[in-house]
Amino acid sequence: MSVNVCGSPSERELAAIRAVGCSEKVGADELFVFDVELCDDRVDRDGERFDSETLREFAPMFVGKTGIFDHEWSAKGQTARLFECEAVEVGDGAGGADGCAYGGSAVGRRTVLRGRAYMLRAGNEQLIREIEAGIKREVSVGVAVREKRCSICGGAGGGCGHVAGREYGGVKCVRVLHGAADVYEWSFVAVPAQKGAGIVNREALAAYSMGRRTDKNRQYKTGER
Ligand SMILES: [Zn+2]
Repeated sequence: MSVNVCGSPSERELAAIRAVGCSEKVGADELFVFDVELCDDRVDRDGERFDSETLREFAPMFVGKTGIFDHEWSAKGQTARLFECEAVEVGDGAGGADGCAYGGSAVGRRTVLRGRAYMLRAGNEQLIREIEAGIKREVSVGVAVREKRCSICGGAGGGCGHVAGREYGGVKCVRVLHGAADVYEWSFVAVPAQKGAGIVNREALAAYSMGRRTDKNRQYKTGER
């Protein structure tokens, strides 16, 4: 998704930033804040989508989570942190439901998970300029959901007989990611010039996820839109 409105924090925002761990030693003038669209309920390139209820569950779980570059788990990559996040329904004509019978926003509307992040200005001058210039704008998320449901009948676990990608009565079947289980991080991603770049990182993150979580019914999801 994408990044936009940016600048210095307001008084209200500063209080929220303090609440996620930024000490009084750091002044408002040292901080840069910006909006990120983390994900929405449209079908992604894997033929999967979140339902809007799950996005609302994820919103508070993203608060305090760090943003990194290209899903790299290194300290140098941890540059920004979310201090607010909410799921909002917008009517920008980009339909969230995409013909889904189950769990979507109304036609022409989509539910977006929108976050507000902060970072230190010092040491991030280049990144801040890129955000201001609208160059650094794509983000993706790494999250876990409890189950995948069928978009045609709402059935869980793939036992219903509907096949993802196939059409039923003119409506394409997709997998609906349901139930917020965990949030790992969000990430600035390179403009997808390298098509396979995300794959290696995805495996690394999946391994990380398995190391932390043993619940068999948790499904791991990371990706770009
Ligand atoms: Zn089904």
